[in-house]
Amino acid sequence: MGKIQELSERLANQIAAGEVVERPASVVKELVENAIDAQATQIDILIEEAGLKKIQIVDNGEGISQEDVENAFKRHATSKIHSRDDLFRIRTLGFRGEALPSIASVSELTLETATADETQGSYLVLKGGKVEEHRTNSLRVGTKLTVENLFFNTPARLKYVKTLQTELSKIGDIVNRMALSHPQIAFRLVHDGHKMLTTSGSGDLKQTLAGIYGVATAKKMLKIEAKDLDFNLKGYVSLPEVTRASRNYLSVIINGRYIKNYALNKAIVQGYQSKLMVGRYPLAVLEITMDPLLVDVNVHPTKQEVRLSKEKELTELISQAIAESLRQINLIPDVGENPSFKRKVEKIQTEQLDLPLEEQPKKKSDLNYDPKTGIFYVEQTSEPPVSIKEEPFEASKPLPLKSETEQVATTEISPTTPEEADDYVELASTDHPEFDLSTQSGEKVIEQAITKLEQEKPQERFPLLEYFGQMHGTYLFAQSKDGLYIVDQHAAQERIKYEYFRERIGDVSADLQELLVPFVLDYPNNDAIKLKEQTELLQEVGIYLEEFGPNSFIVRAHPTWYPAGQEESIIREMIEMLLITGSVSVKKFREATAIMMSCKRSIKANHHLNEAQARVLLTDLAQCENPFNCPHGRPVLIHFSNNDMEHMFKRIQDPH
Ligand code: ADP
Ligand code: MG
Repeated sequence: MGKIQELSERLANQIAAGEVVERPASVVKELVENAIDAQATQIDILIEEAGLKKIQIVDNGEGISQEDVENAFKRHATSKIHSRDDLFRIRTLGFRGEALPSIASVSELTLETATADETQGSYLVLKGGKVEEHRTNSLRVGTKLTVENLFFNTPARLKYVKTLQTELSKIGDIVNRMALSHPQIAFRLVHDGHKMLTTSGSGDLKQTLAGIYGVATAKKMLKIEAKDLDFNLKGYVSLPEVTRASRNYLSVIINGRYIKNYALNKAIVQGYQSKLMVGRYPLAVLEITMDPLLVDVNVHPTKQEVRLSKEKELTELISQAIAESLRQINLIPDVGENPSFKRKVEKIQTEQLDLPLEEQPKKKSDLNYDPKTGIFYVEQTSEPPVSIKEEPFEASKPLPLKSETEQVATTEISPTTPEEADDYVELASTDHPEFDLSTQSGEKVIEQAITKLEQEKPQERFPLLEYFGQMHGTYLFAQSKDGLYIVDQHAAQERIKYEYFRERIGDVSADLQELLVPFVLDYPNNDAIKLKEQTELLQEVGIYLEEFGPNSFIVRAHPTWYPAGQEESIIREMIEMLLITGSVSVKKFREATAIMMSCKRSIKANHHLNEAQARVLLTDLAQCENPFNCPHGRPVLIHFSNNDMEHMFKRIQDPH
């Protein structure tokens, strides 16, 4: 007998299950797709123990006839396509006939189903793909499919499953996308008796959006519509000020199927032109309809990847449609350009100058700046002005002071995928050279920065620097007896602020500032699950989230030292950072937070400091534990020794 044998159907199904049924969320996805294909208008999804114990999907769709029930579990058996031609005209979500046999082969499955045309329904039980019971059942048109003990017979797969929270959050995510793709279907997702999502099925996409992302966010989304000969585009995109640190909040739906497509996501971002800050992404839901001939969904067993024949045309349509609707709202000037807003900012800054002394960080010089706000200020106790130039090394001269600070809108959360990194590079401005790290994942960037910080020990003593000039509002020049130093002022300020925040963030419990008006944070269910898991970690950095409805939290206070006026945005960013990196140690999270805060409002490049400010910066830098690198590991200063200079000018010859 030859060595080559055909695999048994059960074994073949288990092999296919490796691709189709990667985790509980994939089971949910496949079964909900089947319910959608069966024209259901109500789909209930009941989950126990993140799907490992039980996944039950109840739909009011057309059901499966008695004759078909067992066939549905045969490999490559489907009612959705019949011929090769059909493959190019797919209007259903399923067509491969793989899901039911695959799922059945790795679980204990019970199917109750009935059609409207028959007098009786069916009841079928399979274990590991083998039929254990098959009988008729009372009639209730529609299908109830229960999957229990998933992966009971594939221990390796079971091990691969992550924590229950992670799995549940993935289920939440996929159901959210399904609900967005089908606003006309009423979805209900319940986990261990707790409601995670309900949508009304009214057909109104904005209502569905509100159900998932919260009403406040949905209100800040713009309707977009566009059309050409091939494509019909509809959806909502967020205003430029409503952004997230990852692309997870972009949903592209083609002919009712939520798909993952890098080019289309990128087109959405491009539609915003330069309106988004570096590393930020909008929220968006795009429903695109097109002739099925133009889209090949048969690329991967999970059917989330597609190939588009006219991808370029579609990306242009998307970008233009978004740009167009944003142009319309732009008739109202940006807050940043708005004179009354500017005045407000200036007023806040002036008020901060009047803060009582003890609230300011202790500094030796009279002219100081507050790392919290990045604002230069003069201590009230300062002595009468003395000419600066006469005393080179002392950076302690009071000055007539205006707020010199420029707000730099930076929200430096690094990209999470190489794809995101691409956009990052495109958007990164020269003010943010730290984003050169962007070819790596966000987690890695933070991780690396932290490792560097952990390793760093100032081996050298910091030289005594005498400031003597600056270039392009970017570099400061200083001399010491051992040569010339060039200091990157942006990097220097980041370092100083980083050390300040790192110290503050270590003791958060002590003094909390009650907010006059508490604010509410809404998250989609999958994110809310992760946050509930991490409440303790968040408390360690001063964020106290109180549950406020199933997917919302209320914040009533914050540590007093949080940079004034930025409390909410800092809290939001810290939370996003946590959502991106997943679980991290308190220490790492504190470090990452200090880095994030230090990036905010640092002095921009091309910003001229006056002489006294420059001197203060150098004095403060000298007091840093590690004045040599910015929190991202870039050098703060470079040194040309006297020897180097002499070599360069050929005053001394190389000894050869
Ligand atoms: P596919 O969806 O690719 O056809 P599946 O293995 O997911 O393959 O399902 C096999 C068949 O079982 C489907 O083609 C459909 O006829 C039937 N079916 C599965 N789920 C349902 C459901 N909830 N309601 C009605 N029919 C269903
Ligand atoms: Mg299917």
